[in-house]
Formats: sequence, structure tokens, C-alpha cells
Amino acid sequence: MQVPASFEYERAHSVAETISLLARHGPEARVVAGGHSLLPMMKLRLAQPEVLIDINGIAELAYLRVEAGELRIGAMTRHADLLGSDLVARNFPILIDAERVIADPIVRNRGTVGGSLCQADPSEDLAAAFVATQATVVLVGAEGTRVVPVSEFHTGPYETVAGPAEILTEVRLPIRAGAGSAYEKVERRAGDWAVAAAGAAVWLQDGVATDVGIGLAAVGAEHFRATEAETALRGRPLDEAAIDEAAAIAGRNAHPSTDQRGPAEYKRHLVTELTARALRRAGARARAQEA
Ligand SMILES: Cc1cc2nc3c(=O)[nH]c(=O)nc-3n(C[C@H](O)[C@H](O)[C@H](O)COP(=O)(O)OP(=O)(O)OC[C@H]3O[C@@H](n4cnc5c(N)ncnc54)[C@H](O)[C@@H]3O)c2cc1C
Repeated sequence: MQVPASFEYERAHSVAETISLLARHGPEARVVAGGHSLLPMMKLRLAQPEVLIDINGIAELAYLRVEAGELRIGAMTRHADLLGSDLVARNFPILIDAERVIADPIVRNRGTVGGSLCQADPSEDLAAAFVATQATVVLVGAEGTRVVPVSEFHTGPYETVAGPAEILTEVRLPIRAGAGSAYEKVERRAGDWAVAAAGAAVWLQDGVATDVGIGLAAVGAEHFRATEAETALRGRPLDEAAIDEAAAIAGRNAHPSTDQRGPAEYKRHLVTELTARALRRAGARARAQEA
């Protein structure tokens, strides 16, 4: 049986209390949300925090609402709440697509949006979906609050720009007219991490893609993003030729590695195929909104 090293346990009741506990205990303290990533790492001794600060009691961090033209998702929102939300389904079907294929109901009932983003696993599905939708995250620390694009939040595998005494409190997704979005993932068996995955958001006006977001998971794309593929599509009619061209570029934007989930070339092929499928479905959803 794997057992974590010993640690102190604190329970925070507010964001302010969490920040002051993090400041008091220093860099060896970690917050625990759903615990689905942190606790297994502690059991394997890959993480050995001296103090765990439990943020599950912070009711002010669990919400889904529209404010200032944005969908705002509190960090402690569980995967299952996102999946069950009509508000999310109406505005960002990409998140429903992604949540349907994240793990299983046990993980989704407990795992959180904030924990998923802060874990920064390179195969994390929500990171790719949030990059596609041009989301930002709100980070709060002793120095104040800052808003960072999700496309700049992850700096590498398991690394983010969040400081040791900062917490992620909210994800913000701009709600804009003409939008459609979709997520496509290939996994070896239901509930597994992605072999490769692609998310797309398009904003159409008279059939032209005025803006585009493409996120990639599990394939070594810098910041989970296919930036060049987005640029190739922006300002063009979203037709089959444009989609195929952007999808091929996305394949070149990916840097997958060969591992137990498959060879790199297979994953690169998947990126091209999944990006094309996500763009097509995102386009169809945008047109359905317009009609
Ligand atoms: C069997 C299994 C299968 C899975 N499959 C998938 C999958 O297919 N796709 C996928 O995307 N994910 C998958 N996951 C991950 C799942 O989505 C987890 O919920 C997620 O990784 C972590 O969320 P959590 O709330 O449990 O975070 P925790 O484990 O509590 O925390 C993770 C890290 O984030 C930090 N943290 C947590 N919340 C905050 C915050 N608000 N501010 C700052 N730091 C914070 C913690 O200190 C810790 O370092 C899987 C997990 C398991 C166990």
C-alpha cells in the first residue's frame, strides 16, 4: 500500500484565509481541491507538501454564471457541474464535449476546474478547450489579483505562471455572437487520458471566420495551442479547403512523443484529423446559432 509522507492539514473557509495560510506556511504548502491528482502524487511521493490547505469548504469558489459578457466558472466547480450545466451547453458546447470524455463519474464528481488547470498535466482536456475559447484565468495572491490568458498560463508540463502563494479563483470565457465550438478526442478506452485531442472555436460572420481558436492536448503543442493554424483560418470563409489547410498546419504545430499511447507519427496524424473534425462541427454549430 502506498502511503503519503506525513503532512499538516488546514481547512480554509475563504479565499483571503487561503492566501494568508499559504503566506504563513511558505512554498512547502499546497492547496488541495478534488485531490484526484495531488493525492495519488503524494502516495507515490512525487509530491511531498508539508502542509495541505483544503479549499473544499470555500462556497464562494463554486459557481457558474454570466457576468460582464463572460461565462464565469469558479475554481471549485466540479467537472460534473460543468457537464450538467444548460448555461454551458448553450454557450460553450466544446466544454460539454470535453467533459463527456474526461475520466469517469467518480473523478468528475470530485475533480475541479481549478485543480485541472493548476495540475498542468500535458494531456489535460480542459486546458485545450479553454485555449480554444480564448479564456482567461483569475489569480489571487497577497500582492493582489491578475488576469492571465489560459494560453499563457501553462509554461510547461506540470508548470504554470501561478506563484506559490497565489490561487486560481475563476475562469472567464468571453461570450460573443456567431460562435460555435467542439472538442474531439481519441482515447484507448473510455475514460482514459487522450492519445490526442483537439478543440476548436470559430466566430462566423456571413460564413467568414472572423476569429478562430484551436487547442491541442497530449501532443506537445506549445501552450496547448495551434497558433499558426488559427492565423491561417482567420478572415477566410470556413470551407473544406480552409479547414483542411488549417488542420494540416495544426499537425505541424504538434510535437508529440512516442509512448505507450502510440507512435509520434500516428499522434500527429490524429491531430490533423481531429482538428478538421472539431472545426467542421464548430462551424456547423455556429451556423445553427445564426439560423
Ligand atoms: C483516473 C483518472 C483519470 C483522469 N482522466 C482525465 C482525462 O481523461 N482528462 C483530463 O483532463 N483529466 C483527467 N483526470 C484528471 C482530473 O480531471 C482531475 O480532477 C484533475 O487533474 C485535478 O483536479 P482536482 O480538483 O482533483 O485537483 P487536485 O488534485 O486537488 O490538485 C491538483 C493540483 O492543483 C493545485 N490546485 C488545485 N486547485 C487549485 C486552485 N484553485 N488554485 C491553485 N492551485 C490549485 C493543487 O495544489 C495541486 O497541485 C483524471 C484523473 C484520474 C484520477
